Amino acid sequence: MNEISQNITLGILGGGQLGQMSAIAASKLGIKTIIYTPEQDSPAAQVAEKTIVASYDDEDELKLFAQSVDYITYEFENIPVKTVRYLNTLKPVYPDERLLEVSQDRIAEKKFLNDIGIPTTRWSHPKSPQDITNTLKKWGVNQCILKTTRFGYDGKGQARLTRDTNLEALWSEFKETPIIMEEIINFECEISVIVARDRNKHIVNYGPMLNVHKHHILDKTTVPAPIHNHLAQNAIKTIKKLAEQLDLKGILTLELFVTRDNQIFANEIAPRTHNSGHWSIDACEHSQFENHVRAVCDLPVLAPNRHSDALMFNLIGDDITNIAQYQNQPNTHLHNYGKHDIKEGRKMGHVTILKEKTQKEQS
Ligand code: ATP
Ligand code: MG
Repeated sequence: MNEISQNITLGILGGGQLGQMSAIAASKLGIKTIIYTPEQDSPAAQVAEKTIVASYDDEDELKLFAQSVDYITYEFENIPVKTVRYLNTLKPVYPDERLLEVSQDRIAEKKFLNDIGIPTTRWSHPKSPQDITNTLKKWGVNQCILKTTRFGYDGKGQARLTRDTNLEALWSEFKETPIIMEEIINFECEISVIVARDRNKHIVNYGPMLNVHKHHILDKTTVPAPIHNHLAQNAIKTIKKLAEQLDLKGILTLELFVTRDNQIFANEIAPRTHNSGHWSIDACEHSQFENHVRAVCDLPVLAPNRHSDALMFNLIGDDITNIAQYQNQPNTHLHNYGKHDIKEGRKMGHVTILKEKTQKEQS
């Protein structure tokens, strides 16, 4: 174990709820956290030792931040790679910039997954409406999804192209932004898996979880996912391969589609903790947030030891004004991120309901 493990300060880039929950997990390990975010009054600032409010390109502030911490991590994937590269000259940043780069760009992501033998939906990088028409013909289908290659989240920057869509008009909506076109998967369900891997290459996993989206935002997560054992094993094997190929130090999530004929296709990589792993705070001995902090601070990751089955649902927008119903129920854990402004579609908190455990964990 690291000699300074008695007295660690972890710097977290980003001030959202994922940073908040990692900071809470860190404090339970005796680790202090300093948040770096451009956002005033961020959720993570409410629980951290200190917060630096500055932009991601302010080298003076970044330097002061790096000087005041031992390790650095991030809680969302749209941190500029340049920022991480600069900070990494001053203090170790995990997960490293390669994973960040891969997960920031849907084309780099799909290429990387396919290169290491992980199947995805068929995709292409169209440069004109004609390219789209040609590719649809080649695939023998008449619809697809168009997504901006960068900065998409919660379904933003996506459009479905069907037979009735005016392709030229849709194309012009994307303006000059690079896009990827993906074949639509008629999936049976969506699942995710999370792994944390430490410097000794020890790896632990959460899931697979079953995820249901509403209006393109994660609504509910169920664990364990009610899928065939061999599919669960396959999903875990897939994410472990990904983590090993990247020589991951830290945590990552893989979102997958399960097809009607029981195949799995990778959809998206998140180089961080994930909404579909929030249940682990209440249903495990060691949550995704604890193992995130452990992995990036050179502490060993620990088997999650899930003690309960769980249902997690998000509190979106106004849902947060109606929380009394969750406050007096047994086995019900309410998490309020303390965001000041309630906005439609904004993740304000979540609830985890624990149930008796029905299955052994897969590893
Ligand atoms: P999030 O932030 O919720 O992960 P995102 O905006 O980054 O979302 P994706 O994960 O790529 O984007 O897509 C959001 C959702 O849209 C998926 O969870 C899935 O339900 C649907 N979707 C995306 N791509 C496809 C596809 N190729 N076929 C079928 N459904 C898809
Ligand atoms: Mg996604």
